[in-house]
Amino acid sequence: MQSASSGASDDTEEGSSTAPLSRYESQKRRDWTTFLQYLKNHKPPLSLIRCSGANVIEFMKYLDQFGKTRVHVSSCPYFGCLSRPATCSCPLKQAWGSLDALVGRLRAAYDEDGGRPDLNPFGSKAVRTYLKEVRDGQAKARGMPCGKKRKRSTGKAAATVVADSSAEVQGGSGGSSGDPSTGSA
Ligand SMILES: [Zn+2]
Repeated sequence: MQSASSGASDDTEEGSSTAPLSRYESQKRRDWTTFLQYLKNHKPPLSLIRCSGANVIEFMKYLDQFGKTRVHVSSCPYFGCLSRPATCSCPLKQAWGSLDALVGRLRAAYDEDGGRPDLNPFGSKAVRTYLKEVRDGQAKARGMPCGKKRKRSTGKAAATVVADSSAEVQGGSGGSSGDPSTGSA
């Protein structure tokens, strides 16, 4: 057993003074409120002190119902395709990038709330493992664009996946393959 204490580099903000909240800060507070609410509504109710990495994972799964990223199952013909078909019933989930950022914010919020760093459930190994599985699964489900192959550039692949997942979040319905004229007339 080795407790890998990842050198978190996110203690840049000393929470004090009357500086206006940054977008990150307000988002963090909102996430934190949501999480506390989730614990309160949990059956049986959970206290923050007893919250474990498993509960954090539960929370992320609970959030999937509000997700907007279609993650194809392996039996779907679009599995591994980046093109966005309008017709397929694969589940919508939270994009990995959103979850990863969320956990980062909640981890910081837990810290600021006076939680002990070594007990921080958001930094637990279970949570990190879960996030890795989600990332790998979504990367596989999306894969490369069908048909046309992109120029391969080693090292930039990961960044491309993240960028695509955030694009997916805004692009709701429609699914006309790249015709900008059909939008707002
Ligand atoms: Zn599908």
